[in-house]
Amino acid sequence: MSEQEKFIDFNRPYMTGKELYYIAEAHFQGKLAGDGPFTKRCHGWLESTLSCQKALLTHSCTAALEMSALLLDIKPGDEIIVPSFTFVSTANAFVLRGAVPVFIDIRPDTLNIDESLLENALTEKTKAVVPVHYAGVGAEMDSIMALAKKHDLLVVEDAAQGLLSKYKDRFLGTIGHLGTISFHETKNIRSGECGALLLNHKKFNLPAEIFREKGTNRSEFYRGEVDKYTWQSMGSSFLPGELVAAFLWAQMEEAESIIAKRKKIWDYYHLILEPLEASGLIRRPIIPDHCLHNGHIYYLLLNDSLQRDRVLETLKSQGVQAVFHYIPLHSSPAGKKIGRVASNMSITDQVSEQLIRLPLWIGMREQDQDRVKKILQCL
Ligand SMILES: *Cc1c(COP(=O)(O)O)cnc(C)c1O
Repeated sequence: MSEQEKFIDFNRPYMTGKELYYIAEAHFQGKLAGDGPFTKRCHGWLESTLSCQKALLTHSCTAALEMSALLLDIKPGDEIIVPSFTFVSTANAFVLRGAVPVFIDIRPDTLNIDESLLENALTEKTKAVVPVHYAGVGAEMDSIMALAKKHDLLVVEDAAQGLLSKYKDRFLGTIGHLGTISFHETKNIRSGECGALLLNHKKFNLPAEIFREKGTNRSEFYRGEVDKYTWQSMGSSFLPGELVAAFLWAQMEEAESIIAKRKKIWDYYHLILEPLEASGLIRRPIIPDHCLHNGHIYYLLLNDSLQRDRVLETLKSQGVQAVFHYIPLHSSPAGKKIGRVASNMSITDQVSEQLIRLPLWIGMREQDQDRVKKILQCL
């Protein structure tokens, strides 16, 4: 076995083979700025595939979250309720507008925000809830939406990892008032740095277009709805260029098959690691019956941080790159300074010390996965 074969990367970006072809097409069309033909195709795909009334590409999921904060008209001192077990952008996008992130604990099964803790965390300053669908597995959206309705709150789904996953019969990102998706290099469907904002209510359409186009009504102008475009409100540049959209289009065309391939690898891990769970060595991911996932992450929970670090070290010494995940936001320097904790955080604290993510990429062979299992078995 060569060194190359012995080493198992954590992630390897999958290319469909058409990316450069579509980039060349955009190049020959000479249309390089945003909102060209490839961006339109991507919008159409998102809207029809996800049954979403309007989708807008952004240059990242972070940008889509920042647009959400603008659309929600977040003002300094407003509070948003977020899980602490997430990526920084879930909170930061709102912090940029002066919001205070209020952290609550996660559920021990899906590692998503614990909806039973929401009501207790509300104050008269609470403006929104931002659930995260960790590993592309849906948070408990029915309870979250019911609570939001009762207290007149808005819901932004951070569905960065959740493209094509479902909660009951609906796609993640289309259930809240707004939803955000990531096409970062590390996500299932990728274009380096790119994202999308899903607008689930018509009232957001026009303001979203304006915020995204530097505070102007250029989008209306392009559609011929106004005869000149002008400065309408505050805004910024949130859209990707056409080369990024051309690359993304190649990936979108194959999105379903990419996800099916990832799920096959996910399923094989789940199968071969069952005996290790039965012997109490690890806990495998839990997918509730009403959730359809997208094979984004295969994680394991170990017994404690000592065991976790030992496992990561052993895997590394045998050429397998496994990684941990989030340092909780509530215990990070910025989170402590800017945020507030509104529940016991014991699950978040435990999980962040126990979790490892295993290599998962298209092209991995079952024998690679068997090797990972053999190493874990000896621990
Ligand atoms: C990846 C990720 C983001 C950020 O996505 P970008 O496209 O890199 O901005 C935000 N939230 C979560 C939960 C993520 O996993």
